Amino acid sequence: MNEGCLLVLSGPSGCGKGTVVKRLLERDPKLRLSVSMTTRVPREGEVDGVSYHFVTKEQFDRTVEQGGAMEYARCGNGDCYGTPAAPVKEWREEGMDVILEIDIQGYRQVKEKAPDAVGIFIMPPSFGELSRRLHERGTESEEKIRQRLKTGKEEIRCAGEYQYIVVNDALEDAVDQIEAILKAEHAKTEAM
Ligand code: 5GP
Repeated sequence: MNEGCLLVLSGPSGCGKGTVVKRLLERDPKLRLSVSMTTRVPREGEVDGVSYHFVTKEQFDRTVEQGGAMEYARCGNGDCYGTPAAPVKEWREEGMDVILEIDIQGYRQVKEKAPDAVGIFIMPPSFGELSRRLHERGTESEEKIRQRLKTGKEEIRCAGEYQYIVVNDALEDAVDQIEAILKAEHAKTEAM
């Protein structure tokens, strides 16, 4: 059996990554989402162990020291995020495709460890639309939104490092494109 594909999805906060991932998981039963650990406070509606593993800074550091993180990063807002290594390895060995929804710092580390990982950058239709979506979400202060937009601008400048760029203008179109990428990657693996 071939190992499952490792897809890394990145994109600025507010580009709709979360919704794209949710639709992908609904459409593809062979797809698994890696649940990251983070030191940030849960937003309203987020569930521990589902949205993230919400951990203290001490727990985070211990996991990293013990080699339990595939990658980790400190984001612009000072919070730490990391991918638990074990589930990704196990799922791939079982032939499942795995999605990591992480930032560019994480993507670079993953590419070092797993060069076969497929990087997809989710691009908002425009910067104005990104700002509109972040304000519409209404979960964060103006200062936090400003910080996220600044980070977003820097991330968009790095989009060329990814193998694919998918513009999230219409949700189902973006999901169709990612499914097509996954199909092509499978065909490549099978031919090897
Ligand atoms: P948010 O706080 O909006 O959930 O996420 C902030 C940023 O952290 C997003 O760009 C998201 O992709 C990134 N992120 C989430 N989980 C991880 C992770 O495990 N590793 C890394 N490197 N970035 C992550």
